[in-house]
Amino acid sequence: MDRLLSVENLSISFRTDEGPITPVQGVSFGVDRGRTLGIVGESGSGKSVSTKALMRLLPGSASLSPETRMRYRAKNGETVAIETLKPRDRALRRLRGGEIGMIFQEPMASFSPVYSIGNQMIETIRLHRGLGGRAARDLAVEMLAKVGISSPETRVDQYPHEMSGGMRQRAMIALALSAGPALLIADEPTTALDVTIQAQVLDLMRDLQRDLGMAMIFITHDLGVIAQIADEVAVMYLGTIVERGPTREVIRRPLHPYTRGLLEAIPAIDRLDARLKPVPGDIPSPSQRPSGCPFRTRCPEAVPGLCDRAAPRETAVGEGRAVRCHLHDAARAAA
Ligand code: SF4
Repeated sequence: MDRLLSVENLSISFRTDEGPITPVQGVSFGVDRGRTLGIVGESGSGKSVSTKALMRLLPGSASLSPETRMRYRAKNGETVAIETLKPRDRALRRLRGGEIGMIFQEPMASFSPVYSIGNQMIETIRLHRGLGGRAARDLAVEMLAKVGISSPETRVDQYPHEMSGGMRQRAMIALALSAGPALLIADEPTTALDVTIQAQVLDLMRDLQRDLGMAMIFITHDLGVIAQIADEVAVMYLGTIVERGPTREVIRRPLHPYTRGLLEAIPAIDRLDARLKPVPGDIPSPSQRPSGCPFRTRCPEAVPGLCDRAAPRETAVGEGRAVRCHLHDAARAAA
């Protein structure tokens, strides 16, 4: 496999009035060229903040631990140590929007309301692909057509507010792709869309990713979406990855009680009358992390005297699979 990005021991702390909090603790993951990694978890699990760290988009109150290593293989073959980049570094400008594209739940976060869609795409193309004039405009129109926007020659001159929500989402994908990124980070890009448009956008992203040979990190709270789009999945809870592995295997045989809970909360077409079982309770704040296993306050399988004593370590459970739960430590010890 051709590793494009590897993240090791990512820990992020924030200064707050109540003292420091660490919403991400020792997270490691990687993405290979042309593959999709899904990161799934509830809001507050640390998934979005982890990917913002990759783009060095964290606020000034945030800091990375000295053990954090984030390595990216750039198009020119150089390895970029992302954690060492300073805000004014050229390498960081090349990374943002050029090597790594980002799309969000809310397209208005990507677009300025005062410039036409085309102007914004042309600026990106000029900056990251070195094309200007007619060639840049032609490429903008081509990208809008690629994401399924009809009459792209006319739409390219429209402003974001002149488009419907679904169309704006497509235009945002076109904007991110117009720089020719090797990696696209998609943060809940379909969450605000209705179900039909959501399915269309997911199909589109899967096709584009395959056609362009791009890698993708897809962040969502919905394991059902991950099942449709990701090759590998990392399940996050309270700032740690609790289970990881090839998506099909994790969904067919979830090992962590939290992954099982997320799966039971997905409506299935063959059991529409069945009651959904949301994971009980709420995710605690990082400032009130429980002792022992972070999931123990909501875990139906928690073992008193074991799960409240020590945080479980990650245990490898086969090719590319790992889980962080004492039940699997115990199973391994007994084997
Ligand atoms: Fe549940 Fe214990 Fe496993 Fe944590 S370590 S997920 S509390 S069984």
